Order: sequence, then C-alpha cells, then structure tokens
Amino acid sequence: MMDVGVIVPSWHYWANPLKLQPLWELYYATLIAKHLPLANVRLIDLRGGEIRPETLPGSDVYFYWIMKSGDAVEVESIVATLRGRFPTSRHFAGGNHIDRCFGAGLEHFDTVFTGTAERQILQAFADLAAGRLETHYATTTASPFAAFEHARRDFLPPGRVVNCEHFAQHGGFPGTGVYFSRGCSFHCRFCVYNNPSKFEYREPAQITDEIEYLQREYGIEGVNLRDEVCIPMNRIVARGYLEAIGRTGVRWRGQTVTIAAEEMVRLAAESGCVELALGLENVESDRVLEIVDKPSKSVAANRRFIELLQNYGIKVKVCLIFGLPGETDAVLDRTIEFLEEVRPDYVAVSGFDPVPGSAIHADPAAYGITRIDPDLSRHAHLLYRFGDAEDVGLPFEYAAETPFGPGRRRERIVGDLRSIQTWLRERGMSY
Ligand code: SF4
Repeated sequence: MMDVGVIVPSWHYWANPLKLQPLWELYYATLIAKHLPLANVRLIDLRGGEIRPETLPGSDVYFYWIMKSGDAVEVESIVATLRGRFPTSRHFAGGNHIDRCFGAGLEHFDTVFTGTAERQILQAFADLAAGRLETHYATTTASPFAAFEHARRDFLPPGRVVNCEHFAQHGGFPGTGVYFSRGCSFHCRFCVYNNPSKFEYREPAQITDEIEYLQREYGIEGVNLRDEVCIPMNRIVARGYLEAIGRTGVRWRGQTVTIAAEEMVRLAAESGCVELALGLENVESDRVLEIVDKPSKSVAANRRFIELLQNYGIKVKVCLIFGLPGETDAVLDRTIEFLEEVRPDYVAVSGFDPVPGSAIHADPAAYGITRIDPDLSRHAHLLYRFGDAEDVGLPFEYAAETPFGPGRRRERIVGDLRSIQTWLRERGMSY
C-alpha cells in the first residue's frame, strides 16, 4: 500500500491559522484517496504547532499544494527536513506558487504540477507505481472543477472543520469554508489568484450536496464562500448557483466585485447572504483603479454598489490596499472621507505587495518600482495587516518619480496604514 501525506504548512502569517480550513489540501487528499483506493492518504496539519516536521512519520509521497508564495520558504524547509529523514520519499507539489515560480519549484520537489492538475496528479501516481515518474506534469487537457468530487472534511478532526469564527460578526453560529468556483477572469495587476484565468463553477446540484453534507456531518449553519468572485458574472450561472445555496437554508458570506446586477444582489440576499466583501482596493481616485485594472474603475460606481447591498440588508466589508501605484499622500484623508460617507460595516486594509507572478512584479519599472525584496517569505498577497507591533509587508520601494507622479516613501505608507487601522479600531470597523 502506498502511503501519501498531504501537508498543510503552519500558515504563520495568520493571527489565527485555525480559523480557515485547508480546502485545497482536503480537495486533493480526497481526489487521491478516491482514485487510488489502495493508497493510505493522511492530512498532516502543521497549523497550531502540535506536529513538527522533525517528528512526522514516513510516507512514500508527500504532497504540497502551495497557493501562497509566503508558504514557499517553510515548505522548502519541510522538504529538506523530510529528505534527511526519509531519503526515498518523493515530494510532489503544485498550486499557484508553483505555476508562478516554476523554476524554483523544480529545484525543491521531485515532481511539480502546473495548472489545475487533477488528471496529471493521478497520472503521476500511476507513473510512480510503474517506475517512470516525470519531473513536470502540465495541464494539457482541461480538468474542470465540476468533474471532481468536493473535498471530504474527515481528514481533519471536527474541531478543525467547523467553528464559530467565520460568523463571529453575525452572532457566532457554526460555519466552515467552501469553494463553489475556482479561478477568475479578471486581470487586476497586483493579483495572482486569477489562476486558472477563467471561472470554473461547480454544478448547482453539487453545491447543494456539499452544503447538505456539511449540515448533516458537522451541523454547520453558515458557509464562508472562499471563491474569488462569489456572484457569477453570467446571470444564468449566477441564478442556478445562488438558488442552489438558497435551497439549503444556510446563511453565507463571500467576496465579490462591484459590477453584479441588482437582480443578482437581490437573489444573493434571498439565498441567505449576510455579508459581502468588496475588493475596492482604493477609494482615492479612478486613476488608481485604472492603473491596477480593477473590474470597476469608478469610485462613484463602487459607492453606489455599497448602497445597493445596504438596501438589501447585506452587511458590507470593504477591502482596501494602501501603497498601490498612482496613490498619493492624500489617500488617508480621501479614504476616511469615503468611509464616513458610505459607512460600511467592516473594513480590512492591507499593504500592497507586488507579489511574484503578478503583472506588476513582471514589469516593476512600468509602475515606478525600483526594488522588490527577493525573500519570498516576505511576500504574501493581501496578508500582512500591520498591527501595532509588526513591520512586515510592503516589500518594495518606489522611485522618487514614477510614471504617475512622486513615488510614495515606505515610511509614509506604513504611517498611513497604522493611522487607518487605529481609526477603524476606534469605530469598531476593523475586521
Ligand atoms: S483581485 Fe479578485 S477580481 Fe481581481 S483578478 Fe484577483 S481574484 Fe480576480
């Protein structure tokens, strides 16, 4: 019997790494267990620190799905530790980081997967058994998300599947994370999560089945949709998707772009949506939205969309990024004016990171960036939040003069981040 260990790294960048679920690791563990019935598949969860790489049992294959480059340095160190202890084990890796930093991946793993690689992963296990394992498997035939089963959660203890943190702002009922789609068709230039580069949706019946499984097995009352855009742009798809959620009676929250039609917002509210996060990123000027190519390039239109959600009783979480190209030293004042005017329920603010794999990282000079920190552990798309004690994130510098005007100094951006976080905390709006 082949022993397969699917490894979840520590998620060191989260204040509470146990709040979210390792959905991609669960998904691929499910895939491998279902299609290789003779394999013994385990999820090895390093979050929380109870398990250390130095004490892990041996496996024939260790599998890593690396979505964030901020995990890469830790995962590479885990691989080195395990190679020292179990020299014959193989290390398989895929995910967003491998797609974006392919060369580095080849240096550390025996086999890497690029693209949405379900069929290729199964092929690699068959090749390993036949003694002809390759180093790289690329997606050559589509592996649509709906072609495979949803993630089984029983690779984790129940306490790590369901918690009351997802809906802490809504009374604290039990909930968990889900993906009903993957990928994104938009091209925001700071983003690496538009991978695959088009939306892949699960079928409505699959959505209902997965929620009912979570209700039956884990007693959940809410789902936190981790989809990049949780209201599909296509109205026919959106209707089936939202009605499928609504049939289960669950409450839900998610994130979306600000260009959904009112009819879809109404359907979302009717299907149990209690909160939507909106990646506005910048509310200082339309020019910044154009530079980073947001789906909505109008601050005024974003303001109207917030009002629309408020009219339907959906709580609004505004997500902002400070430090984007084109931003000026007026950003703090403009942001406070905007927030006082639209009064969202919550606001999350991040420091900009020209994360490896993004369009801005590929051509920093075009955005006035003179230096990007090569240390991958300092890069994590929208993760670093700037608490009072930490000084991480913003791993880059602007030139004194950029194509969009004077380049902002890092110290000034950090100061603005601390000021806005304090302002939000005082008003109970920090998320
Ligand atoms: S920021 Fe959101 S909408 Fe923009 S490309 Fe990334 S996932 Fe898509």
